[in-house]
Amino acid sequence: MKRFAVILAIWLCALSAAVSVADMPGSVLRVRHGAKDDHTRIVLDLSSKVRYEIRRFENPERLAINLRKTKAGRDVKRFDISDGVVRRIRVNHLSWGTQVVLDLRSAVDWTDFFLAPVDDMPARIVLDLTPAQPSNTVRKKAAPVPAPARAMVVTSKRTTRAAREYVVAVDAGHGGKDPGAIGKNKLIEKHVALDLARRVASEIDSKKGFNAVLTRDRDVYLSLVDRTRIAKKKDADIFVSIHLNSAKRKSARGVEVFFLSPAGAEATANKLLKDKGTAAKELGLDEPENDDIMHMLVDVNQQAMMQRSSLLAEEILRAMKRRGVPPTRSIKQRSFAVLKSIDMPSVMVEAGFISNSKDASIFKSKKGKQDVAEAIASGVLSFLKKYPPRTSSDDRLLVHKVQRGDTLWKLSKKYGTTVASIRKSNRLGSSSSLRVGQELVIREGDRGQ
Ligand SMILES: [Zn+2]
Repeated sequence: MKRFAVILAIWLCALSAAVSVADMPGSVLRVRHGAKDDHTRIVLDLSSKVRYEIRRFENPERLAINLRKTKAGRDVKRFDISDGVVRRIRVNHLSWGTQVVLDLRSAVDWTDFFLAPVDDMPARIVLDLTPAQPSNTVRKKAAPVPAPARAMVVTSKRTTRAAREYVVAVDAGHGGKDPGAIGKNKLIEKHVALDLARRVASEIDSKKGFNAVLTRDRDVYLSLVDRTRIAKKKDADIFVSIHLNSAKRKSARGVEVFFLSPAGAEATANKLLKDKGTAAKELGLDEPENDDIMHMLVDVNQQAMMQRSSLLAEEILRAMKRRGVPPTRSIKQRSFAVLKSIDMPSVMVEAGFISNSKDASIFKSKKGKQDVAEAIASGVLSFLKKYPPRTSSDDRLLVHKVQRGDTLWKLSKKYGTTVASIRKSNRLGSSSSLRVGQELVIREGDRGQ
């Protein structure tokens, strides 16, 4: 019933560090808040490093901070705060951990970061919230900034988007020796997925300015790596893999859309960073000399890509919900190989359960398949219209070496971005000060999204 939105904010801890700490139960010691004009800061004091994720829900607007394997201390309980942004903070004790819910007055923009313990300060998760900019506000494009002499500019090597069509890679799951799931009415996943993929692709191709490429257009086996490789070769902007679900429980039915989980992102980052030359190439960057900077570049890219993937998943699920058949279930995060690209938003659509007789009958009929395909395509198109891929001119990551007199505010103006964006990219707390010579990753022209 309720519109369901998932916006993911992830924090990837120091990427090279072992994460064994995450397995130990941590606890939330305290929840604090401070309000200043229309800006509210929420701080969770923690007994140790914990993994967390933030989800946004609508109707009513709220943010949930999910802390797995984490307990909440006795002092952590519900309280009302009446500032301009947050109404109330609630704490849910759940089987998998603790959920801190912020009930909001209206939609917010937020940034969050994790701070390791220092001296007598415990580990903390900090969230800064401000009322969301109305979505109909036209975002002014940042004035072009000449490449500063001192900064090493690492520019995406992709071609300018404005001049060409958006390319959607449509991937039919399984194929050849790999049939996928076998369902009711002798439905075989690989055949249904290919049929759907073809329909999705032709629906996308029929729209001006959009172009679809199929990873396979016949019954042939492809490895998972082949699939993303083909998409990249075609310079795809987004990747949509199509599958059918199957379950022992015959009553299970409906649509699920998947994008990469934080654990999957972390594993990918670790693998990438083992070979920085390859990592740089994957990102289309010149190789920076400094290791930390490389980590941050991968991190920043992944965060942006996961956020975009979550939005793509949301648009597809929303379009399928409008269509209504099969019913929609939810958006989920998994560590599937085809979701791991760091340079294109990627999702997997499990378009229904072929083990369920109602869903199976949809995929048995041409009209049923056409309806499902049209819904998937309409979600894809609405994503590309709402969140067009960045063009190479505004997709610039650069590294700025801090000089005497630099402040975050001055740098934000210089590079057409925001203080929040610089903080987020570099995991700077609000009290962190800049050092001369410090290198900062900057997303030029990033006004937040
Ligand atoms: Zn499958």
